[in-house]
Amino acid sequence: MNGLLSGLGLGDLENVDIFADPSKKPEEQEAAQKHVVQEKDFLYDKALVCPVCDAKFVNKIMKTGKAKLLGTDRDLRPVHEGIDTQKYDVLLCPQCGYAALSRFFTQVTSTQAKFIREQITGKVQLHEYKGETYSYEDAIERYKLALANAVVKRGKNSEKAYICLKSAWIFRGYAKQLEEENSQANADKIKEAQQMEEIHMQNAYKGFMEASQTESFPMCGMDEMTIDYLLAVMALRYKEYDTASKLVAAIITSPTANARTKDKARDLKDDILAEMKKNK
Ligand SMILES: [Zn+2]
Repeated sequence: MNGLLSGLGLGDLENVDIFADPSKKPEEQEAAQKHVVQEKDFLYDKALVCPVCDAKFVNKIMKTGKAKLLGTDRDLRPVHEGIDTQKYDVLLCPQCGYAALSRFFTQVTSTQAKFIREQITGKVQLHEYKGETYSYEDAIERYKLALANAVVKRGKNSEKAYICLKSAWIFRGYAKQLEEENSQANADKIKEAQQMEEIHMQNAYKGFMEASQTESFPMCGMDEMTIDYLLAVMALRYKEYDTASKLVAAIITSPTANARTKDKARDLKDDILAEMKKNK
């Protein structure tokens, strides 16, 4: 497009923004024009006290209500504008290596703390997270630590399953970022991230399936209908159509499920029928 001053032979002046403030540097003007919200703008350093070793430290945490929710993937992974919020859901003590999902962080018994001190502290190799944000590599490491801690402290199946589900989401986000950066150059890394998503999702399915038969609800903040919906999505993913259909039917006919969950279940039922037809 031609600028207002084009054709005068005046070089850069031809494309200038005629209303730009000349007292500002060009970079500042550009930033002001774009008003780019960066990932770090959604975060702050939260001061925490470790329930295992009493150390004081800071972790990067999401500011409440700042990121705009664009929608959710079918398996309920939230998608926000400008940030993958899941990267910030593990809290990690840099002194003793205790890590957990934020909702479980303070829930550690003295026996569990003892297990963590014996089997994690002093053995685990920890990195310093120096950036203004956590990279996907950082987040993957933090989730791995949360899972190791959950195993060592003999945590519930639901907690381990939830860490696996969120880890699967992290790998999905990572693969997406790699694709956006350069899908050709990152082909191997993308494939690896997709395989890791798969492994974590399979473990989440197994863990939530066991938990739904042995634990009480709500589970990880989710009610029975939400867990049943998640299990149905995963059952469909693994082509267990009978299981998926039964779970979906139970949600649709349930007197307690809310309208939103029922709607999602109806959509999923259509997907199940379509896939069954395709795979006949
Ligand atoms: Zn600690």
